[in-house]
Amino acid sequence: MTKTVIIGGVAAGASCAARLRRLDESAEIVMLEKGPYVSFANCGLPYFVGGVIRDRSDLSVQTPERLKSRFRIDVRTESEALSIDRAAKTVRVRGADGREYDEPYDRLVIATGASPIVPDIPGIRLKRVRTLTTVDDAVGLRSLVSVHRFMSAAVIGGGFIGLEAAENLREAGCSVTLIEASPQIMPPLDPEMAEVLTGELRRNGVELLTGTAAEEFQERDDGGLLIRLSGGRTVEADLAVLAIGVRPNSAIARDAGLEIGKTGGIAVSPELVTSDPDIYAAGDVIDVTDFISGEKTSIPLAGPANRQGRIAANNIALGNHEAYKGTQGSSVAKVFGLTAASTGSSEKALVKRGLLKGRDYESVIISAGSHAGYYPGASDMFIKLLFSPDGSRVFGAEIVGGAGVDKRIDVIAAAIRLHAGVRALAELELAYAPPYSSAKDPVNMAGFTASNVIDGLVSFADWDELEKHPEHTVLDVREKGELAEFSFRGAVHIPFGSIRERVMELNPSKTFIVMCRGGVRAYDSARILQQKGYKVKVYPGGTLFYRAVHHV
Ligand SMILES: Cc1cc2nc3c(=O)[nH]c(=O)nc-3n(C[C@H](O)[C@H](O)[C@H](O)COP(=O)(O)OP(=O)(O)OC[C@H]3O[C@@H](n4cnc5c(N)ncnc54)[C@H](O)[C@@H]3O)c2cc1C
Repeated sequence: MTKTVIIGGVAAGASCAARLRRLDESAEIVMLEKGPYVSFANCGLPYFVGGVIRDRSDLSVQTPERLKSRFRIDVRTESEALSIDRAAKTVRVRGADGREYDEPYDRLVIATGASPIVPDIPGIRLKRVRTLTTVDDAVGLRSLVSVHRFMSAAVIGGGFIGLEAAENLREAGCSVTLIEASPQIMPPLDPEMAEVLTGELRRNGVELLTGTAAEEFQERDDGGLLIRLSGGRTVEADLAVLAIGVRPNSAIARDAGLEIGKTGGIAVSPELVTSDPDIYAAGDVIDVTDFISGEKTSIPLAGPANRQGRIAANNIALGNHEAYKGTQGSSVAKVFGLTAASTGSSEKALVKRGLLKGRDYESVIISAGSHAGYYPGASDMFIKLLFSPDGSRVFGAEIVGGAGVDKRIDVIAAAIRLHAGVRALAELELAYAPPYSSAKDPVNMAGFTASNVIDGLVSFADWDELEKHPEHTVLDVREKGELAEFSFRGAVHIPFGSIRERVMELNPSKTFIVMCRGGVRAYDSARILQQKGYKVKVYPGGTLFYRAVHHV
């Protein structure tokens, strides 16, 4: 009988334990969890703060009792693994009663997750500066806003946890200031895609301060916080939520002499074996291989953690036969009325790797409707697709919009995982009926557009082309009636239907940025003009995208 000890009882740890039992009825499985809960819904915590999830028990996916009775797992909560003696193959544990003991293992799984980064700045330990990682954190925050009626909050960090915290604190009735040190929120997105979200935050009453760091927390006389920011500004708030990222809980592995990767997570083989053949590791605590670049990185997400837990169990029970093939960082977040999602590499990440646009990668941005425009209730989405210049690889996608964003990102995520190229996106046969999609699904449209770029049929302006090249002329091909809503100063206006007759009005020495509402008429116009020798670029996503990014 093999005895496996698992340190950490949430996503990776609990998945590993349950899978192990399903594979091996005779295995002895001990799960050590330092907190009071196992298998809880970290991802649901912000929604408990906002009162969307009302019952605290809904945050428990499994209880220790159920894991014990269903899976015969020896679950020990409030039991912290303190150290590992690899020679003796034991784990030093501080149990719920405070006593320490050594727990022997044949195989050990380290699934200790990651902890929020708490920077060493003055006042960071004040009682009202909170993090949002555990059930108790969420219960505490919920109580501050609903029982103690704290009405103002500062959220430090504009990643997906910060944004979800901001939304839910607004939901709970707080005024919210979101403070983000870098120039943009939502780091997995490129700046222009993130910019669409800033408009939504502001529309929903969040004061957004980007490029601004919290430098000191002070306690006011009434117990509230005074937060000093870079640039000299101060913000007052009843409470603050820190969400500036996480760091792998790998100290126990480091102290045991296990190899640590370059981003601070435990180094593992594709089979999730550490530098000790009897010790596996899974979840946020490991360094993973980036599915796109092949480089080692840290991508803390629930889906990968669960799948890694399962693979570790498979390899423990059945021999090291299964490889974890990397993480592509597929993620989705609700930001008030919008959804923001991404998979694979952003353009920023490609550029950071030294890739050059045009030579090593291409990108397109399109606007698309969630479903057929003639069926009521369609909403817009913006899709950015990054791909190799020959179209053989899709490097990544980012989508921001209303309904249907989650579905499209998952289609593209699956395509990337299956090594499909751009033309395959154009070829995909996707389910269609008017309430759900269009006969040409937004994913097909992204594939068509990318194929057109590869075939040299169209050239796109950058989203900030007009700022970079004020000498270019906007050619607006919308109908006259559409101009009342929004128009460009200095633009030449020729509706698409008259382009062929009025082409001689255009100065052939100029470069035209062709613009319509969503991009299709601009593309059609550009095709006509290009074939007549004009220098034209299509503005990506049309005025819809221009306005969403420029907030006009
Ligand atoms: C607020 C919030 C929202 C999130 N939302 C999403 C989302 O929408 N989508 C998504 O994909 N991901 C989301 N995540 C991330 C996701 O929850 C994590 O990626 C995932 O939980 C990682 O699983 P894990 O098992 O590696 O670590 P964890 O779930 O963190 O579990 C590790 C456990 O190990 C325990 N532990 C640590 N050290 C020891 C020790 N020495 N001894 C005993 N026990 C120990 C910890 O107490 C912890 O319970 C969110 C995270 C948070 C905090």
